[in-house]
Amino acid sequence: MTSFNQDIFSLVYLIATILFILGLKGLASPKTALRGNLFAMIGMMIAVVATIINPEVKNYGWLTAGLAIGALIGSTVALRIQMTAMPQLVAALHSFVGLSAVLVAIGTYFAHHETGHVDSTLMIELAAGSFIGAITFTGSLIAFGKLQGLLGSNPVVFKGQHLLNLAMALLMLGCATWFVASDTLLPFLVMTLIALILGFTLIIPIGGADMPVVVSMLNSYSGWAAAATGFTLGNNLLITTGALVGSSGAILSYIMCKAMNRGFISVILGGFGGDAAVATTSPAGKGVKSASSEDVAFMLENSSKVIIVPGYGMAVSQAQHAIKELYDTLVEKGVEVKFAIHPVAGRMPGHMNVLLAESEIPYDCVFEMDEINSEFSTCDVAFVIGANDVVNPDAKTNKSSPLYGMPILDAYKAKQVFVNKRSMKVGYAGVDNALFYFPNCSLVFGDAKAVSEQLVANLRGTGH
Ligand code: NDP
Repeated sequence: MTSFNQDIFSLVYLIATILFILGLKGLASPKTALRGNLFAMIGMMIAVVATIINPEVKNYGWLTAGLAIGALIGSTVALRIQMTAMPQLVAALHSFVGLSAVLVAIGTYFAHHETGHVDSTLMIELAAGSFIGAITFTGSLIAFGKLQGLLGSNPVVFKGQHLLNLAMALLMLGCATWFVASDTLLPFLVMTLIALILGFTLIIPIGGADMPVVVSMLNSYSGWAAAATGFTLGNNLLITTGALVGSSGAILSYIMCKAMNRGFISVILGGFGGDAAVATTSPAGKGVKSASSEDVAFMLENSSKVIIVPGYGMAVSQAQHAIKELYDTLVEKGVEVKFAIHPVAGRMPGHMNVLLAESEIPYDCVFEMDEINSEFSTCDVAFVIGANDVVNPDAKTNKSSPLYGMPILDAYKAKQVFVNKRSMKVGYAGVDNALFYFPNCSLVFGDAKAVSEQLVANLRGTGH
């Protein structure tokens, strides 16, 4: 490539990188998220086109076949995927990034050996790309299995687990050093194998409640794997994009850790969430009160302030539009209505915000946990719709709960709490919820959308 052409490509890559940064900035708030997505999509389109027309591309046959197959699979999955299955899709995509980093490292190793161009900087890049990629690959597969329900969400712990992880990490780094010093295939393969096992052992001890941090952490790892691949391939765009994903994922993990009161370092080392005893079902017959939709409508109508707490169940039943109608109806009746969002409610960061924004609930009545928690004690009704773990008071008091230490929405402080869910089944963390047995709490059994619609009908006097 001539230096003029090189300059043009560098400029185009720079423009794509700027668009990615604007995209990330836009995603920081639901108000600007659409615009952010648009910037990122344009940036990605520019990056793909620039890569295709790059004169360094030697074989258009392979490229076209890869693009066609990838585009077909990608668009089919994107069209069919349910919103509630997004986190596992993201985990699966992270695993692809990890696997491709390993494959690129192996391919580059052989290609450079054929031409005899091997230097130690390249060896370091290959080692880093391969072991970060391998950890990301198997770690993301385990995360996928847990989120998809193929594997139990309970932590798998055994004695000496942390020591074993530490020993494997040291052995892996030892093999990487041996590989760089000797330029032989054996330590490279052993290093990659250990990294594959390490990805597995780092994620299995992490319980359901702590999965949000894992997803964002693997997001970060996949970014660093891509950046390492960028160094290997000498592709500046891949380096900057990987670094953006890696660092934004790390920042998100940090925010999640703070929100869940978990140690950042212990998360990175895969060493938390494990030791607690875990119940998997709610004790039958422990005595909960249930309420009908008429009871709830009556209480809501006669309240001056209501706080709605949405959770994963709202996403499952796609109840956000019915909840918007409930909001409108209550506001028309002069009730002050606010929404309380827990940082890990649902199954991905910002899940609830996205759904509420989709149903056009005004942003100014949607509050984050720290902003609203002090208001539960002054509200008449806290209406919990499809949320469970994020309002479980055991997180504050029960040291044996896997949720212990995670800040919750203080719904239990409201004068009256109604919890809508379909059964007595547990939430994602797999533990019973102490809130259900509080004297001020009643359960409203049923699908979130159906219950919300019934409430609107009751409030408007058209219910049966
Ligand atoms: P939970 O998973 O704790 O509980 C959801 C509740 O919704 C269940 O108890 C379920 O009970 C109920 N539900 C399911 N479907 C419906 C429906 N159609 N109608 C009414 N209710 C329904 O959700 P939370 O949002 O409270 O907490 C999120 C959990 O997910 C946390 O443990 C968090 O750590 C974890 N997580 C979060 C991620 C994130 O990034 N936000 C990522 C990965 C995990 P029932 O079956 O009886 O109806």
